[in-house]
Amino acid sequence: MPSRTEHLALPVGRAVRRGGRVARRAIRAASRRVMAPIAIFGYHRVAEPACDPWELAVAPERFDAQLQVLEAHGQIVPLARIPQANGLGRLRHRRALFALTFDDGYADNLHTALPILERHDAPATVFIATGMLDKPWFWWDLLAQVMEGPDVDPDRVVAACLDRQLIDQAELEDVVPELHVVVHTRLKGRPLSEIEEVVASVAEEVGVAADPADRPLTTDELRTLAAHPLIQIGGHTVSHAWLPGMGVERVRAEVREGMAALDELVPTRDPRPFAYPYGAYHRAAVDVARTLGIPTAVTTEPRTVGLRDAPLELPRHTPVDSERPSFEIWLRKAVLGRRVPSGVVQGPLTARPVTITG
Ligand SMILES: [Zn+2]
Repeated sequence: MPSRTEHLALPVGRAVRRGGRVARRAIRAASRRVMAPIAIFGYHRVAEPACDPWELAVAPERFDAQLQVLEAHGQIVPLARIPQANGLGRLRHRRALFALTFDDGYADNLHTALPILERHDAPATVFIATGMLDKPWFWWDLLAQVMEGPDVDPDRVVAACLDRQLIDQAELEDVVPELHVVVHTRLKGRPLSEIEEVVASVAEEVGVAADPADRPLTTDELRTLAAHPLIQIGGHTVSHAWLPGMGVERVRAEVREGMAALDELVPTRDPRPFAYPYGAYHRAAVDVARTLGIPTAVTTEPRTVGLRDAPLELPRHTPVDSERPSFEIWLRKAVLGRRVPSGVVQGPLTARPVTITG
């Protein structure tokens, strides 16, 4: 039988723990009132592609509406301001701070996104995988068209994948329902030239042609984009490399050579930020970024920037093609941590459950 003190210890302990929880909640609520929320948004495209299974594109009018919502709830600032504004710097800001980024280097960033950014006077950082410049397509888009485009015969796709040993007969039943994800995952760690060769040959065999609207920037277009005062160009490796699958020397070469190519093509005096391809990174990648003197690097971990987030591991939300009301509800709830008025119909969340792009 427990002694009287031991007997009392249980409820007292519970009360103390409950009190601790209440206090922590109060501190969090108070800090939200005095410290501005900070969020980085990772876009890819402003376009309306026919086939977009990874939800990389936001339609132009919806992108415009999303910027209106961001302006109504905070201030859109250059990415470089975010690490400085984090920590106690937040106390100086009364309104939320938002930074816009675009990954990969799609031509529509110049032709469609930039005019909308100009209308809002909104700065943005565009992360370029330099090995993709001047190419007719990004391999993941052509693969998506092969795997999920309309008018493609699935049996021919499976046969083409078997021929190239992307899958084997024994696993057919398991992999066919998830064929796109399986093939994408198996390809992404290979050298870019090999991936492009395989995807091009499968596409040709099943009769799929790339849509020119999905193309990367040309070198000249990159120069035009970089010369715009609202735009900053950041690194995204040379080949859009899957860094966690590489040894440290290859990681260093991918990051350094991508940065060097940008310094040659679009020189700048400002320190250049970096985005981990696919949002995927490991300790070695962060160490490489640090030793190369990169000031800021972003992931695709879908959260708002926390007080303790390091400048080389900043999280990003990935907005999808949602209309103004559902974007605003999501922003208030997931980003600003505010209550949504009751009776408001919940729209689809704009954070994707699976992040394999970035
Ligand atoms: Zn990317």
